[in-house]
Amino acid sequence: MDATMQSLKRRVAGGDPQAQRSLDRAHDRAGVCRIHPEQLLRGKTRFCRVCKALRKADLARERWIKEIVNTVYGRRQNRSVHPDGDFDKAGRWYPSDEEDQGDVTCNVRSPSRTWPYSYMLRARTKQHCRVLVEAALAGKDVPGDVASAVSRARASEPEGVAP
Ligand SMILES: [Zn+2]
Repeated sequence: MDATMQSLKRRVAGGDPQAQRSLDRAHDRAGVCRIHPEQLLRGKTRFCRVCKALRKADLARERWIKEIVNTVYGRRQNRSVHPDGDFDKAGRWYPSDEEDQGDVTCNVRSPSRTWPYSYMLRARTKQHCRVLVEAALAGKDVPGDVASAVSRARASEPEGVAP
């Protein structure tokens, strides 16, 4: 590596955006990956061998997570599983701490006598199922239906996909 490259890298490490752009251009000119400069790029490809492998692993993991989310969502939608929580005396439903994960009670208006299932509806959405699955993968406590879907998926995971 020549002196110019070395000083560029030092400036990039110091957070200089101008230096980052110069370094990127230098990699483009040399036909090497911006993230793995030891890897040559061939033709017009934007990803080197290493980047492609990482991307493939990311996509496989994303597919794996989506499958778990769909399982949890499907059961909650067809009412074979109910979100974890309790009704108060006025018939309003509130999620347990494991169910909530912060996204139910923060994003949705609180239930009222005329609208008692506002949290319950949110807890059945695919968006919330995704939050729960990610929480389970991060080792947090989640409702039983999510925990069992995740552990079943882990038992049959494709090699290297599950954390
Ligand atoms: Zn790369």
